[in-house]
Amino acid sequence: MNISVKNLTKVYGNTEYGVRALNNVSFEIPDKQFISVTGPSGSGKSTLLHLLGGIETPTSGTVFYGEEDIYTLDDKRLSEIRCKKIGFVFQFYNLIPELTAHENIILPLLIDKKKVDKDYLDEIVKTLGISDRLKHLPSQMSGGQQQRVAIARALINNPEVLLCDEPTGNLDTKSGTEVIELLKKAHEVFGKTVIIVTHDPKVADYTKRRIQISDGEIISDDFRH
Ligand code: ADP
Ligand code: ADP
Repeated sequence: MNISVKNLTKVYGNTEYGVRALNNVSFEIPDKQFISVTGPSGSGKSTLLHLLGGIETPTSGTVFYGEEDIYTLDDKRLSEIRCKKIGFVFQFYNLIPELTAHENIILPLLIDKKKVDKDYLDEIVKTLGISDRLKHLPSQMSGGQQQRVAIARALINNPEVLLCDEPTGNLDTKSGTEVIELLKKAHEVFGKTVIIVTHDPKVADYTKRRIQISDGEIISDDFRH
C-alpha cells in the first residue's frame, strides 16, 4: 500500500502568528520502505509522524493510505486504519506496568476482540529475541528489552507500517543500535514499511531512504540501494 503525503501543513495556535511546525510537505512512501526522518529538535518530526498516523489533524493538506484520504474518513474508519494498518513505537515504550510482556504484546488483539495466532506471535518474539522474557513485567526488563516488547506489540496486528517516534531516544548506544537492527528486521522479515523519526543522525546510516527536515520543510530525501 502506497502512502502519499500531500501539501501537509500544521500550524499550532493562531493560523497567522502560531507555530508553523510543518510547511507544505509532500512526498510518496511506496510499499515496504525503510525510512528515517531526521532533523534537529523542534523541526517538525513528531508532528509529521502524528499526522502520518492520523493522531493529529492537519491545518491543510492530507495523507492518503492507498486510495483513502484519512482526513476525510469518519472516526470509525480512521480508527480501523489506525488499528489494522499502523503500528506505533514510542520513545518511552508506553507498556502497561501491571501487565507481563506477553500480555502487553497481545493487548491490541484483545481490544480488537481478535484471537491470538500463536505461530505469528512465536515468530515475532523469536525474531525480536524476547522469547524468554514473556512472563516478565516491564519493571523487570531493561530499556532495550522493553522496546522490543513494544515493537512486538506494534507488529501483532500485522500492520502495513510501523511509525517509530525516537525509538532509541531513551536507550544507550548499544541497545539503541540493537533496536534499530530489529526495526530493520521487521522491515525485512515481515515486509513492513518502517518510518523512524529521530534527532540522531547516526540512525539514518541504517535506513535505505533518508529524509531530513528542518524548520518544517524537507531539505533532503536520499535513497540508497
Ligand atoms: P520535533 O519532533 O522535530 O522535535 P515537533 O513536531 O515536536 O518537532 O515540533 C515542531 C514545532 O511545533 C516546535 O516549534 C514545537 O514547539 C511546536 N509544537 C509541537 N507541538 C505543539 C503543540 N501541541 N502546541 C504548540 N506548539 C507545538
Ligand atoms: P485482516 O485483518 O487484514 O483480514 P488477516 O486476518 O488476513 O488480516 O491476517 C493476516 C495476517 O495477520 C495473518 O496471517 C497473521 O500473520 C496476522 N494476524 C492477523 N490476526 C492475527 C491475530 N489475531 N494474532 C496474530 N496474528 C494475526
